[in-house]
Amino acid sequence: LGETIGQNLRRTTERFGRHTALVDRAQGLRATYDELWEQSGRVAGALLARGVRRGDRVGVWAANRYEWVVLQFAAARAGAILVALNPTYEAAELGYALAHSGTSLLLHAARFRDTDCGATVARLRADCPELREAIPFEDGWAELLDGSPAAVDAAEQEVDIDDPVAIQYTSGTTGRPKGATLTHHNLLNNGRLVAAAIGFGPADSVCAPVPLFHCFGMVLGTLGTSTHGAALVLPGGAFDAGRTLEAIHEEGCTAVYGVPTMYLAMLEHPRRRDVRLDTLRTGLIGGAPCAPDLLARIRTELHVPELSTVCGMTETSPISLQTLPGDPAERRDTTVGRPTPHVEVKIVDPVTGRVVPTGTPGEQCTRGYSVMAGYWDDPAATRAAIDPAGWMRTGDLAVMHDDGSVAIVGRLKDVIIRGGENIHPREVEELLRTHPAVADAHVVGVPHERLGEQVMAWVRLADGSPAGGDDLAAWCAGRISRSKIPSLWRFTDRFPTTASGKVQKFRMREIAVAELGLDAPAL
Ligand code: ATP
Ligand code: MG
Repeated sequence: LGETIGQNLRRTTERFGRHTALVDRAQGLRATYDELWEQSGRVAGALLARGVRRGDRVGVWAANRYEWVVLQFAAARAGAILVALNPTYEAAELGYALAHSGTSLLLHAARFRDTDCGATVARLRADCPELREAIPFEDGWAELLDGSPAAVDAAEQEVDIDDPVAIQYTSGTTGRPKGATLTHHNLLNNGRLVAAAIGFGPADSVCAPVPLFHCFGMVLGTLGTSTHGAALVLPGGAFDAGRTLEAIHEEGCTAVYGVPTMYLAMLEHPRRRDVRLDTLRTGLIGGAPCAPDLLARIRTELHVPELSTVCGMTETSPISLQTLPGDPAERRDTTVGRPTPHVEVKIVDPVTGRVVPTGTPGEQCTRGYSVMAGYWDDPAATRAAIDPAGWMRTGDLAVMHDDGSVAIVGRLKDVIIRGGENIHPREVEELLRTHPAVADAHVVGVPHERLGEQVMAWVRLADGSPAGGDDLAAWCAGRISRSKIPSLWRFTDRFPTTASGKVQKFRMREIAVAELGLDAPAL
């Protein structure tokens, strides 16, 4: 589509004005498309009145809430760039992102004023010349809603589809988050096409517990629904499995989103059996590897028969690959599907850059409309990530099958090298998860003086299971080669995760190194 986000919202409003656009269950707020259009126009007017101009950065630092979505559309309509900030950032991380993006106006949740982060905002207002204003949603929103939409039309006409509309920081799974600059064209079309593939229409109502600041929420949640006249249902706040199940039940949702850890928490939640989930038809799962067994349980026990796996990265708006309900069963369970429309995917030798034969692992590269404009204010990193022909290096190790479907086998940065042998943690994790006593497992490499690295498993046991590391190691014998069997075991109830719910292996490694008194990890 050759439209801006604002033009598209106007068209949806003309067609489906009285349909529900947005529900925030935590605050008990709802809006139709007519109301969303009207309110985002007023807030856009208020932003313009406060001096926000095309290309200026407007930050948002809050957990999922109604106003977040209105602000997303308002900023887009005013021609601003939304800087979507992770609400769990510590002071230093927030300071980095605000300064790095040159944010001039920040909307934040009031409770942050009393934290260190609140002090950071105050300090940044003094130190950072670009940050002119920091407005708490709780005190300042009413005034923004009172803005005049009079000047918005003219501002909207200036906005080009290739203008940046968001700076989105990556999850920080492998290290410091990187700021991807994404345009109207990037985001609107990815949201529209991925949602179209699972048949969204104006009758759909989509439960999205995924964070809005992350591309899963901001693109597939907000734009995936608005481009089709569907409703976005926010359980509200940070992820909570019980509230998500309740939202599906009470709103009669037809679709649900989540990363694997969220679905696991929903499946394990005691209230799952008390709520009605059979209104669900479809859903998206992605962001991290999804075990076939988990996919099967979501289809049957959570009643999502048409579940679709999506795979992508912040830098590609985000989705490049998607499974569809009609795919052959084994492809649907063991791959992340085929390229989404208008996206090309190739698998190359990471050293030579040459395409490898089907069936051979290599680095996945993506090209198409969805590739970001670049990393914000970092041309060197952009050049390293996107080649002159437009191919984005994903850093993911993948195999393409003859039918064009792709299986992710690991991350280039997540390989354990034990005595010169490359071990993909994913293979060990998948095996461990099939053990009846194991609820979840993640595997990392930690330093070993002779071998370089050794294999360490972090395991969350099923309730009441007495299994120990020796039992699990003995069970692995004969199922995978000896070198891959973990030599260190750590039992835990919680894995370190990003705010988007992804397990952070670099944190696991740091913790293990500290606990075991090992030398610093070789990364
Ligand atoms: P950072 O780049 O900061 O380390 P990140 O790469 O996790 O963090 P995101 O952009 O949120 O940040 O995530 C993209 C990555 O998530 C992909 O590169 C891929 O490794 C992984 N991923 C996404 N979807 C899937 C999936 N369906 N299966 C396996 N891995 C996936
Ligand atoms: Mg990444």
